[in-house]
Amino acid sequence: MAKTPLLQNKHLLVAAASIGVGLAVLGIKYAAYLMTGSVALLSDALESIVNVLTAITALIAIRVGAHPPDRRHPFGHHKAEYFSAVLEGALIIVAALFIFHEAYGALLKPRALTEPAAGLFVNGVATALNAGWAWLLMNRGRIWKSPALEGDGRHLLTDVITSVGVLAGLILATLTGWSILDPLIAGAVAINILRMGYDLAIQSMSHLMDEAASPNIEARIREAIRANAGGALQAHDIRTRTAGPATFIEFHLVVPGAMTVIAAHEICDRLEAAIEADIKGAEVVIHVEPEHKAKHKGAVEV
Ligand code: ZN
Ligand code: ZN
Repeated sequence: MAKTPLLQNKHLLVAAASIGVGLAVLGIKYAAYLMTGSVALLSDALESIVNVLTAITALIAIRVGAHPPDRRHPFGHHKAEYFSAVLEGALIIVAALFIFHEAYGALLKPRALTEPAAGLFVNGVATALNAGWAWLLMNRGRIWKSPALEGDGRHLLTDVITSVGVLAGLILATLTGWSILDPLIAGAVAINILRMGYDLAIQSMSHLMDEAASPNIEARIREAIRANAGGALQAHDIRTRTAGPATFIEFHLVVPGAMTVIAAHEICDRLEAAIEADIKGAEVVIHVEPEHKAKHKGAVEV
């Protein structure tokens, strides 16, 4: 069947703009750190690295992953994004360890912030920029029906909330003179960054190991088989694996032994069309077998 590209140009534009916004936020927040010497503001700045790196992964997914299958890669190039994501997970973990190191130094030798008002204002400007971009991503995600984009927007919104928490803590530290709050806040942000890096690395490795489609998708596949396999007797050994936006699906279809190849193939075409229409990015392969091969375990009766 003809394949339509799963990811379009507007996604490319959004991914590129996300890298730009992420770098701008990183730069402005780093300037706020330099003005104040606050490790909490440093940790808030480094959190933007996560967004820059995930936007780069998205760009790789769109540029490399969207290449059509070729002779050497007949299943496509979707997994390119997982390689970059594993590497990025590792980089994010390194950033978190770096913050722990800096926070530990500040914990041993707490010091008052220099230029707190100006520094907090500059950080606030970058946080507002992030909030605006988060809103835009969620808005476009809804309009373009892209859960990935909406998810990116929601992730960015949690960053904004963290940043507001950091700012509130630093205002408290400045007003009360509790300099120890600065490294403590930085440590809390670093734990959050560490968790994000770990999740990203683990998820990507699981996908590289041919992870199955979600239980929800598998239920929909079974439903589509049940509804469209008229003439066949049973389907079994349903296996799925995902690669980026693609879902590869295979199963055995049991038909009466005397059925003609033409008739069996017609059922297969109908099933393939139904599943591929229901599940975006699905590619279905069906193995036909005569009735004495029917299995009773895990079979979908039709
Ligand atoms: Zn079989
Ligand atoms: Zn065919």
